[in-house]
Amino acid sequence: MTLSERDPRLRRVFGPVPSRRLGISLGLDVIPYKTCSLDCLYCECGRTTDLSCERRRFFPPQELIDELGAVLPAIPRLDHMTFSGSGEPTLNSDLGGMIAAIKRIAAAPLAVLTNGTLLGRADVRRDLLAADVVLPSLDAATAPGFARINQPAAGIDVEGVIAGLEAFRGEYAGKIWMEVFILKGVNDGEAELAALETALRRARPDKVQLNTLDRPPAYPGVESADFALLERIRSGWRGLAVEIIKRARHREEIPAFSSNLENSLLNTIRRRPLTLDDLAALTAKGEEELRHYLEVLEQERKVKPVIEGGKIFYRTYEE
Ligand code: SF4
Repeated sequence: MTLSERDPRLRRVFGPVPSRRLGISLGLDVIPYKTCSLDCLYCECGRTTDLSCERRRFFPPQELIDELGAVLPAIPRLDHMTFSGSGEPTLNSDLGGMIAAIKRIAAAPLAVLTNGTLLGRADVRRDLLAADVVLPSLDAATAPGFARINQPAAGIDVEGVIAGLEAFRGEYAGKIWMEVFILKGVNDGEAELAALETALRRARPDKVQLNTLDRPPAYPGVESADFALLERIRSGWRGLAVEIIKRARHREEIPAFSSNLENSLLNTIRRRPLTLDDLAALTAKGEEELRHYLEVLEQERKVKPVIEGGKIFYRTYEE
């Protein structure tokens, strides 16, 4: 199956798409556009039009289960089914019931992307217990920083969010991968980064994923952080399992860039489509390093990821 755009006949299920964080991922969108408890400066879905922290029923949950049941037989392999989309999934008060129902009909691991703002509530934490991976975000740990980058709904304070993350870690046995989104000149100051580090140590995630702007943001004028800063943060947060998931846009961002390696990757992929594993075995390079080269080649429309037989292959546009 090739990378599919959202099927217009489906309202809640989209993909599967190759995801950097989650592999081959089938998206489950359970929130109307654009309902969220935050209005992040960098949001790639646009500005929040319904800023709320009220949990609600948005549609009969069986609609999602029926759609999923209809598409799953045509998908050979999934790395994750992922609650994501264009709003905050924990605002859907049927989330726990939907997770339980999906677990009965599908074997792939279930992931939930969340902004973490409702984790202070026992019912939200309970709803998430059956998920296999929860991916909360935390971009600031001081009140002014949180207000600036995340523009929360009334009633949400950052200390409550951090306490919720801490409580969730104490109750949840699954994996927690926290995303920290860094913007240049917004949350990259020393005091903010120190507060974030302290908060992350309290939240005890299995890993921390550093990210920055990759697509047009909801608010103009915000700028992405460069690799050097993300690398400095990663090396400074000792004892935390930190990875950088920012996509490389330019060759200059790749440390010790080698045009020989880039040409060899392109020529190899021209001969036949290959997975990241194949390329790592052929070049004896690490996957993280190869991913940066492939991202630049993707930007330039020289290679593209496609899903075939349940794996992500890279192939050229020329075929
Ligand atoms: S929490 Fe996510 S969906 Fe909500 S505004 Fe922020 S980035 Fe967008």
